[in-house]
Amino acid sequence: VKDDSRVSFLGASGLARLRASRVTVVGAGGTGSHVIQQLAHLRIGLLTVFDDDALAESNVNRVVGTDYGDVGRPKARLLARRFARLGTPIVPMTRRAEGPEAWRAFAASDVVVGASDSFVTRDVIERMCRTVGVPLVDMGLSIAFDGERVNGIGGQVAISILGGPCLRCMRVITEARLAAPREQYGQGSPEQQVIAMNAILSGQAVLSVLALITRYTNGFPVPALAQYDGLQHVLAPTPLRLPDVCPHYPEGDSGWRVVLPERKAS
Ligand SMILES: [Zn+2]
Repeated sequence: VKDDSRVSFLGASGLARLRASRVTVVGAGGTGSHVIQQLAHLRIGLLTVFDDDALAESNVNRVVGTDYGDVGRPKARLLARRFARLGTPIVPMTRRAEGPEAWRAFAASDVVVGASDSFVTRDVIERMCRTVGVPLVDMGLSIAFDGERVNGIGGQVAISILGGPCLRCMRVITEARLAAPREQYGQGSPEQQVIAMNAILSGQAVLSVLALITRYTNGFPVPALAQYDGLQHVLAPTPLRLPDVCPHYPEGDSGWRVVLPERKAS
């Protein structure tokens, strides 16, 4: 592979950071598969993928990199193999992101991406990330459909980081969402034609990862919360009304712009 550091918009040091970076993605479904594909193309240092599900026939219309011959295989291993030859080492973990393997992977990561359709899982992931001091890029899409017409298409990409607002501060995680079955907010129902919306959100999530790792944005702040309105066709940073201090994770300050972290010495 030729040396592209002189012409990369990431700059030589940004590109070096990217090449050395480690990212963990939780969820290899509709949104996670796009993120995994893009991170594979970007040639990062190490990509770890957690997903305990096998590919269902109803997933194929939204999990990129899969086809109907893959039905029944574990999604994490399947995508790791499918994208293996792009230059990013991919470690598939065919289990839930909990237990010692998950803690180890999170702690060794520069960024964790939460692409689960369960708010309970996303809540747990955020707590783990904040415990080990690793930024979380959380993403989700929901469609309000009453059986006849679409009443709303919404989604968001949120960055949760020590010193910034948490997902509860940003109202991404609420008690109502934690209590609801995932189908109501997520993509649990079969054959949803959400691949294009997922691509928009996934692109923004990967840009957030890229910014956190390389700081390519030249001082422009990365929004803690970007919200997507699929009926208005808008993805935009969202100004946040926040409490002075995050009451959910009191060890961190609040603030609606994310401060990019110093990279950990490796
Ligand atoms: Zn909070």
